[in-house]
Order: sequence, then structure tokens, then C-alpha cells
Amino acid sequence: MAVGRYHRQEIFYPIGSEGQKKLQQGRVCIIGIGALGASVANMLAQAGVGYLRLIDRDIVELTNLQRQALFTEADVEQQLPKAEAAREHIAQMNSEIEIEAVIADVNPYNVEKFITDVDIVVDGLDNLETRYLLNEACDKHKIRYVYGGVVGSGGMMMNILPGETPCLECLLGPLPEEGSYDTCDTVGVISPITNIVASYEAAETMKLLLDSESVCRQAISMDAWDSYTEFFDVDKDPECPVCGKHQYTRLEHRQKNYTASLCGHDAYQITPEDDGTFDYDAVVTALEGEGEVKRNRFFTTFKNDEADLKLFPDGRAIINSVPSGDEAQKIFAKYIDR
Ligand SMILES: [Zn+2]
Repeated sequence: MAVGRYHRQEIFYPIGSEGQKKLQQGRVCIIGIGALGASVANMLAQAGVGYLRLIDRDIVELTNLQRQALFTEADVEQQLPKAEAAREHIAQMNSEIEIEAVIADVNPYNVEKFITDVDIVVDGLDNLETRYLLNEACDKHKIRYVYGGVVGSGGMMMNILPGETPCLECLLGPLPEEGSYDTCDTVGVISPITNIVASYEAAETMKLLLDSESVCRQAISMDAWDSYTEFFDVDKDPECPVCGKHQYTRLEHRQKNYTASLCGHDAYQITPEDDGTFDYDAVVTALEGEGEVKRNRFFTTFKNDEADLKLFPDGRAIINSVPSGDEAQKIFAKYIDR
């Protein structure tokens, strides 16, 4: 008799054929499909996790190929959104699972809808602000959150199990000021560490889906260049605003047009509140009379003497080459939110 594609996992005794069935019923949301997220998505798809939601706001760029598995030069040429490029590549490897690609920026308006119908949320993010927001949303809805982060040659990983373990804010403390800590845009990052952290994240996700006794309850810190891996205990802070007091200030902080600087891109992203009234076709038609417009199946670019922007069907825009968030807001108000 021919053996199935999951044979080597089914004869691995902590999983077995029962465990394999559980993995196939598992629902996982991966937020951020860069180096970490693409690697985790690939491993969970190989393992046969039945449903994967892949969320990312960015387009595949040439500088991503140095570390982000799955993507190709053709994706860069076609300017494919990362979520969609990852979905297409993974679907070729495993057509038996369901993969949803979501091209979106995770923010206070939409985060809850992305995480409340899955078993586990996996962190593939590149910025702390969104992680802190996600930490609040996962605590509020009691969703298990597999945190992972990398910078330079180092990384960290921890399972955040609401009601059971400390949370991200217990581990990292209050959100540090922007610019006061290293990021991949300032000190770089190498692919071996992203793969190490992604491997821990994928293994922990599989164990959580199986309710395994081997789920790690410590934080893990590692470095691929200095060659170490350390496991350490984190104390739950009873005064923690998130897991101690259940105060969700970021989740409840909703600006009218949520503005974020895109680190390393000389650009600002503006996300309007999704009230269902945004008419993408009408806005693109109006832009056609005011400058150079290029529309593909995922987004529209617009350029004239004053503005250089990229507009997505959900109303989100990336305003390029502006000195400040205020300037970006002005362009957004004039050309999109009019
Ligand atoms: Zn906490």
C-alpha cells in the first residue's frame, strides 16, 4: 500500500495518526509574511495544518530575497503582495489545505476580526507597535499567541497563553520609544536566525494544536552568530496593564485615519476606519484625471507633481516621499478621502 504524504509525521510518536488529524483540523493565522512568517507558513503547510490565514501589507521587494524563503525574482518583477505570493507558492506544494491571503495592515480596527476564528496566532511581524497591539487583542479574546522576533543575528521566541503564561508586555516591558531600539532597518538581519526562530515558532504551533505536554513555557533567546540558545523563565507581572489589569489602550485607541511611518521606506501609511463606504473604483477613476495611474489586480499607483502614492482596495494608502505624517495626511485628504 502506498503511504500518504504525512507518513513520516504519523510514525513520529508524539504526533501519530491521531495527531495528524488534529493538525489537519487546525486553524492558524500568521501575521507578517516576511522572513519569519513565510518560513513558518511553509513549515505548517508541509505539516498539513488545515487552514492558514496569511496577512501582510507589503509588496515583495528585491531586498527581501536575501532571507525570505518562498519568494522569487519573478514576484519582485510582478510587484506581488507578499501574502498573495506566499499563498501561490505554498498552494503548489500542498493543495490539500486551505490558504487565505489577506493584503492588509493589522491595526486597531481589524485585528480582532483576523484572530477570533483561529486556534493560534503566529508572529511574523517586523515592528513592536503591532506586536503590542496583537498582544492586547490576544489577551482580550484568550487566543494563544506564538511570539517571535529577530534583529541582526539574534532572536527571541515565547508562547503567550492567556490566563496561563506571562504576556509580551511582561516579557519586554512598556513599548520603548521609536528609534530607541535596534530594528532590521538599522542593524540588518541574517537568514540563519530567522529560520531558527521560525522553526521554534512552527514546532510550538504544532505542539499547541496537539495540546502537547511538551509546549514550551519559557522564553527562548538565541543568536546564530554568537552561537547560543538560552531558555529562561519570565515572571507574570501582576501590575501588567495587559494580562494583569486587562486594559487595552492600543486596541481602543482609534484615530480617524490611522497613520504609521514605514520604517526605512521614506513613506507613511494611512489606514482609514473601515466603515464600508470606501468606493475604490470611484477614487481610482477620479485620480485618472489628475496624474499617472497604473492599476493592477492588487493595488493602484498614482503619481503627479505633488503626490506619489499606492492605494489598496480597502482604502489603505502608502504615501511616498513625504517628510512627515501631517504632509501624508494632507495628500490623503486631497486625493483619496475627499
Ligand atoms: Zn503581561
